[in-house]
Amino acid sequence: IRRLHDSVVNRIAAGEVIQRPVSAVKELVENSIDARSTAINVAVKDGGLKLIQVSDDGHGIRYEDLPILCERHTTSKLSTFEDLQSIKSMGFRGEALASMTYVAHVTVTTITNGQLHGYRVSYKDGAMEHEPKACAAVKGTQIMVENLFYNMVARRKTLQNSADDYSKIVDLLSRFAIHHIGLSFSCRKHGAARADVHTVSRLDAIKSVYGVSVAHNLLKVEAQDDDPSSSIFEMNGFISNSSYSAKKTTMVLFINDRLVECTALKRAMEVVYAATLPKASKPFIYMAITLPPEHVDVNVHPTKKEVSLLSQEVIIGKIQSLVESKLRNSNEARTFKSQKVPVQKMVRTDSLDPAGRLHAYLTAIRSSIRQRRNPKETADLSSIQELLDEIDHSGLLDIVRHCTYVGMADDVCALLQHNTNLYLANVVNLSKELMYQQVLRRFAHFNGIKLSDPAPLPELITLALKEEDKIAELNTNLLKQKAELLDEYFCVHVDEDGNLCWLPVILDQYTPDMDRLPEFVLCLGNDVDWEDEKNCLQGISAALGNFYAMHPPLLPNPSGDGLQFYKREIDHELMAEAQIAWSQREWSIQHVLFPSLRLFLKPPVSMAANGTFVQVASLEKLYKIFERC
Ligand code: ADP
Ligand code: MG
Repeated sequence: IRRLHDSVVNRIAAGEVIQRPVSAVKELVENSIDARSTAINVAVKDGGLKLIQVSDDGHGIRYEDLPILCERHTTSKLSTFEDLQSIKSMGFRGEALASMTYVAHVTVTTITNGQLHGYRVSYKDGAMEHEPKACAAVKGTQIMVENLFYNMVARRKTLQNSADDYSKIVDLLSRFAIHHIGLSFSCRKHGAARADVHTVSRLDAIKSVYGVSVAHNLLKVEAQDDDPSSSIFEMNGFISNSSYSAKKTTMVLFINDRLVECTALKRAMEVVYAATLPKASKPFIYMAITLPPEHVDVNVHPTKKEVSLLSQEVIIGKIQSLVESKLRNSNEARTFKSQKVPVQKMVRTDSLDPAGRLHAYLTAIRSSIRQRRNPKETADLSSIQELLDEIDHSGLLDIVRHCTYVGMADDVCALLQHNTNLYLANVVNLSKELMYQQVLRRFAHFNGIKLSDPAPLPELITLALKEEDKIAELNTNLLKQKAELLDEYFCVHVDEDGNLCWLPVILDQYTPDMDRLPEFVLCLGNDVDWEDEKNCLQGISAALGNFYAMHPPLLPNPSGDGLQFYKREIDHELMAEAQIAWSQREWSIQHVLFPSLRLFLKPPVSMAANGTFVQVASLEKLYKIFERC
């Protein structure tokens, strides 16, 4: 073991703080903002590798401070650890400038208020290379960073080969510009005259930076909470509406005026968009959140990029529900293009009919999701409201909201972690209840799944009964009579010839298992009480809930005991199909079901007793066992 030389230690640390040219720009601009500048100009050569120059009109740096300006851990913003709790400046670690001098040549020109001339001095490895030289200077500070990573060959090579950092730098300044509307920013390539300048309003700033199409599709959001027992925060911002379309999420987030990232919040936003908008575009989001400074831990990441917040989950939850209701309310005005369903979402069936599977005519069924033709005004049937009110959600709510999905334990149960407890949760029950509740909430407002081949009801019912029967005809006639109600309220469309043509979208990005269609149709005919309004709506909703629930696929699971089934049949195609069905279900459970459960499910009290949730272990108890070993 050898002790590393200080210069090696410092260079390694520097490489962490300054990862790319854009990280240097961020640090320099933050210093300028901390220095109370009103105009900040950036010039860049060769993506920042040759030159980064940041000029500001801030308070400048005193002559006496110049010798230690670029030493590690020298700062004017913090003196005791406790100061961190109330810090308002962006910098405080005193590492940025020092880091830059270990991986580049840094030259500082600065003048403080009331001085006749300024000073210029160059730095290397944390120290001045010569005494500061007097020079002419305009108000503020100018910092030049030249030949970044000149002594880190590999880093320089990768950066030279990678895409130009210039666009990243422009993007960074755009974000600053949106937030700091009282400040002017410009950024140009060295020698060129292009610049991004701030404008009067934030919306104008967004327009000039991200384009008119973004600015036209924004909704204003505001939220606050002032309850010390849950959370204290204020948030305002702009979020994209359903007409906005993009492949990537843009999230511009400021917490206490600090440009940061918060992965949990970003995820939460993406989930709301995916769950609320049928088109599920990635959103554009600008948010400024203000919290008491002592509620933010900015010191979780060396570049202060990620932060953690006190009562983060509460805050994210509040913002999430606000955004959700905003999106829902704005949905009426949406323009919506029909979308192609990805191949893996096509409904596949099998003609061999091994386990009572669908008749050959359904083989070709493909679903395509499109908007319902004429979205109705909210139907204010009081019985729907009553049914919604009857959901007596319980203490399980907290588990559902805050659980972590671990994986599937078997075909029907998922393993969940909540605090220090492990639970087995019945996915079929959970999804059934979720679908039921969603049917009530979307009542009369469904988007539709169109069956590419209309499915004749009599044949579906016969399939479900597994024999010819008079019931098929009776039920078909019954459902034909009820076609208007089914279509208007549930988007279950039966045409005049008794063919099923449309089904509702209950959870976006989710199509039910069409193998269960016959059972559903039979259930509509047999189990629904068509006489009483409330019972009728409840019955149809429950039938839909059961149909859309994430049952195990009818084909046995080829990666479990079910494998024997395929050995006997020696059918590779069938096995491949089963593999797809099972893995697709598992994917849906993790990526569609659980995120939606967290957002929408109100778990009824009965779920605590009926085996839907079973606590299997608590970590405290497990630790006790391990301690004995
Ligand atoms: P930190 O910002 O964490 O304090 P830095 O290494 O970024 O550490 O900067 C060190 C110190 O140099 C700052 O605390 C500040 O006093 C001074 N400084 C840096 N840049 C500027 C600037 N543009 N204008 C005025 N002072 C500056
Ligand atoms: Mg700094």
